[in-house]
This record gives sequence, C-alpha cells and structure tokens, in this order.
Amino acid sequence: MRIEIVACDIDEETPAKSYAITIDGETHELDLCRTHARPIEELITAAKGEAIQPPTSPPMQSAPPSPPERTTAVGTEEEPAARRRGGRRPRITSMAEVEAAKAAYRAQD
Ligand SMILES: [Zn+2]
Repeated sequence: MRIEIVACDIDEETPAKSYAITIDGETHELDLCRTHARPIEELITAAKGEAIQPPTSPPMQSAPPSPPERTTAVGTEEEPAARRRGGRRPRITSMAEVEAAKAAYRAQD
C-alpha cells in the first residue's frame, strides 16, 4: 500500500492541495496548505463573485469606538505679551541689550 501525502511547498505543512497557476502560458505548480492557499482560495471565491469572509476584521458594529475628542485647542493659547505688563522694568537678557540700554540712557542726557 502506498500513500502519497502532499506537503506545502512553503512550510511543508500537511495536508496540502496542488494548485496550478498559469500566467502568460507559464504554469506554476504549487502545493499549498490551507494557510498558504487561502489567498488563492480568496481570489477564486472573489472571481466567482461570492462574498469573502474577512479573516481578521470583526463584524460591523453599530457603535464603533470613537476617537478621543481634541480638547487641547481651547484654553492653551495664552499671549506671552500679557505677562510683560506686570513689571515696568524691561528684562535684559544679553550683553548686547545691556549696551543698547546704556546707550539709550546716555542718549537721554
Ligand atoms: Zn503552508
């Protein structure tokens, strides 16, 4: 007694089916397990016009989870110029500004 087992060409999984795909007259013979044959089976099913069951996506839900609303746009916009009104003295941050302030002070005499 002799039993022939077809194994998948990709991962040697059994059982596998033999597929022959002809492209431009060139035939590719493939032995594919269920996992690897699935794209081909789906193509065949799609070509026949039958509905394909998506393997991963869940069925349509009536209330899909909504993305979080953006609330950061309101209230964060604060004018930095408003803070300068507090102190009367201008804040000098660099030597160039110090020299400019000195020159401006001397020019007033
Ligand atoms: Zn396989």
